[in-house]
Amino acid sequence: MAMLNFTNKKTPVQAKSNIDDLFKIQSGSGKKAKSHLTIDDTYKEDDENIISFVNDTFLQAISRWASDIHLEPTNKDIRVRFRIDGNFIGYKNLAIEKLDSLIARIKILAYLRTDEHRLPQDWKINFNLFWWKTIDLRVSVMPTIYWEKCVVRVLKKEEKPLELKDLWILPYNLVKIKKHLKNSHGMILAVWPTWSWKSTTLFSLLSQFNAEENNIATLEDPVEYRIPWVNHTQINTEIWFDFPNWLRALLRQDPDIIMVWEIRDEKTAKLAIEASITGHLVFSTLHTNSAAHTIQRLVNLWVDPLLISSALRFIISQRLVRKLCPHCKEKYLAEEKVKESILWKIWRYLQNKEEIYLYKEREWGCEKCNNTWFKWRVWVYEVLEMNEKIETLLLKNASRTQIEIQAIWDWMVTIKQDALLKAVMWETTIKEVLSALWD
Ligand SMILES: [Zn+2]
Repeated sequence: MAMLNFTNKKTPVQAKSNIDDLFKIQSGSGKKAKSHLTIDDTYKEDDENIISFVNDTFLQAISRWASDIHLEPTNKDIRVRFRIDGNFIGYKNLAIEKLDSLIARIKILAYLRTDEHRLPQDWKINFNLFWWKTIDLRVSVMPTIYWEKCVVRVLKKEEKPLELKDLWILPYNLVKIKKHLKNSHGMILAVWPTWSWKSTTLFSLLSQFNAEENNIATLEDPVEYRIPWVNHTQINTEIWFDFPNWLRALLRQDPDIIMVWEIRDEKTAKLAIEASITGHLVFSTLHTNSAAHTIQRLVNLWVDPLLISSALRFIISQRLVRKLCPHCKEKYLAEEKVKESILWKIWRYLQNKEEIYLYKEREWGCEKCNNTWFKWRVWVYEVLEMNEKIETLLLKNASRTQIEIQAIWDWMVTIKQDALLKAVMWETTIKEVLSALWD
């Protein structure tokens, strides 16, 4: 049974960086991954067991890199499942009689009202994984037709952002990115259609700068990474202070480099652009479908195209595709038809154009990936660099397609090409690439 982890108790764990390794030492329970639901009778007795159950569930979810934990009562039992890499994996089923104490335990941990059952509630838990490491868990409780349902989102608070080299950015994009990071002002945008780990890329870019020699300031919601010497600010828009107000206040702090969590409205867009043409390097994110679409989105936010063209350095558009589990993938030679269509898209970047080898899921999975054949994710990118031709198109009010064609003409590797290259590099399958990017 895993020990309690809500106290700042020192454990005899040696300092290691890998959570998986640490977890094995910490829990010592040796529970095997289960890919099917089971009724577990061990957690029927008393409150003490519920406390352990909640602890174990959190630990198991964290150690398997789950993004969410779902505790769902049906009319018969409570189903506990994890979302891992976008898919649901069953964890345990629990007798329905335990629901009250289970929900009450989670509510107590998240400082929620235990006597409120009719309204949704949410707050967070600072889960002490080890005495030196906490993990933020966001708890949301919602009444359903049966009882209350609870979802816990696991927010991994990394101490240190990943290095650029660990982000699967291939050399043709890395060269462009590094070139523009030498500028002292301008705007760099990371874009993605929905929620993603955009911040991972932005923080890796930020960590390229010397924070002791520059004033680096961020506006975030929530604060995910902590870089030494960087002034991270958690935005609170619940009070009367809105996003543009936060940004205005930050600009009075004499910053050199600014990271604005997200450009959502006209005011923020204009302020951020202004800041980037008055001597600041500004990093931000936007919800758009592609790099070329981003330019149009900024114009639609009533930002003067002339200002956009002088502010923007590059736009990095990114998506995640599932990464094949290294323990159960199988190599095969691409058949002629597949080979031809791959060559049609990326022949320029391939050395061996005769035989193309790909990887697919082996017939049987393995325990390491909970029999899903995928483990982790891999980023795919496109980097649109501003240049004179694109600036001219922007000033002429050109369409998103025209801008994209020009960028490709100027050697932009599209996100689809980047994804295909990653399939050819055996990080993922062709099927995964097609379903993620060809819709
Ligand atoms: Zn596997």
